Amino acid sequence: MIDFKSISEACVKCGKCIPTCTIHEANADEVTSPRGFLELLGAYDRGDLKLDRELKSIFESCFLCTNCVDVCPNSLPVDGMIEKVRFDIAKKYGLAFYKRVVFWFLRHRFFMDLGAKFGFIFQTCGFKIKSEINSMKPRFSLPFIKKDRLLPSLTLKTFLNSHPEVIKNGGEGKVGIFIGCLANYSYKEIGEGLLEIFKALKFDVYLLKKQACCGAPAYFTGDFESVEYLARKNISYFEEVFDGLDAIVIPEATCSAMIKKDYVHFFESRDVEIAVKMKKLNKKIFMATEFLDKHTKLKELLSTKQKQTDPITYHDPCHARKMQGIYQEPRNLLAQNFSLTEMSDPNACCGFGGVTIQVEKFHLAQKIGQKKAQMIDETKATIVSAECSACKMQITNSLHENGSEVVFKNPIELIARVLRS
Ligand code: SF4
Ligand code: SF4
Repeated sequence: MIDFKSISEACVKCGKCIPTCTIHEANADEVTSPRGFLELLGAYDRGDLKLDRELKSIFESCFLCTNCVDVCPNSLPVDGMIEKVRFDIAKKYGLAFYKRVVFWFLRHRFFMDLGAKFGFIFQTCGFKIKSEINSMKPRFSLPFIKKDRLLPSLTLKTFLNSHPEVIKNGGEGKVGIFIGCLANYSYKEIGEGLLEIFKALKFDVYLLKKQACCGAPAYFTGDFESVEYLARKNISYFEEVFDGLDAIVIPEATCSAMIKKDYVHFFESRDVEIAVKMKKLNKKIFMATEFLDKHTKLKELLSTKQKQTDPITYHDPCHARKMQGIYQEPRNLLAQNFSLTEMSDPNACCGFGGVTIQVEKFHLAQKIGQKKAQMIDETKATIVSAECSACKMQITNSLHENGSEVVFKNPIELIARVLRS
């Protein structure tokens, strides 16, 4: 369980975390560093520091990238402490109106589907669509959204509504797909690619149509009521389908880290029975490349296919490498057909940072994003890949701002393309 006092006291002030810290890179000040956050959280816990708007802004500037946890000699969970204090912030100051609207939609899939349909019909009024990269650009500045910024565009029919619930491919295996919201409402090619891969592997597919949002956007913002509602809904749905499936596969680092890691942490202090249940369910839940690399014959199949000419590079999403230890698996699969050049630091955060950073502190996301875009360009790759749609949204915009021609593809899209060739 996360306890501000003992974790703050366990910091030995060695400073190893500071050179790796994403917010410290964007704002080189001790208060916006892991060591500084822990000091402030300790003082807040002792009652020496009041939670005011300045402190709120400091705690909301952490990218939750977990770089600090990775290098800390005591593995102090700075990210978990920031998530916890954001709950206190949300309680004291309430959630901004736009966040309440977004989280309400995420809790009500029927209205989300309807809203997305309306959004699709009217998006051309306010945005220029760049369909080749599933993105759109505001025609004029909107509240919180700059004119030149690229955002994910909407599709008329969601991925989950585009296919039957059960797709029989030969019965060599049975997998459920948890697609995640961005890939369901915008980046549909990820789900389509996953269906093509399972067809080639002769695995039957069950689209988990009653899935709810994993709750990550609400979790990182301190809206724990929405997290509890969404997590309970997903967990009871997973229990319903658990026995009939070999695995539940998620082609998204953030959703899979939220479900596999954060659901357990979240319920450990609220409902131990649910936390125990989740640990059991986790045995069958995988990030897509992890499952495809370790539990299928996809590598062998890919080795019989053509080599691709596009040079690629791979970005490690924070929620894949640092939270789940997944970094070799996508490389093992992509290396069968692509020539892969590593960036100087593939593990550096892309700068997405969550809803608050994307909306209220976007200048910080831009600063970190620019460095990532330059790193990508230096590899001379024409494609950058990462198994995360939040990274896709952030990196696509950063590349665009950098004037780069490099395009972003989830590894699932690239593998499906190879199978088609
Ligand atoms: S989670 Fe990332 S941004 Fe936040 S304190 Fe740690 S290293 Fe810095
Ligand atoms: S690495 Fe860990 S112990 Fe060292 S200053 Fe950072 S948080 Fe404290």
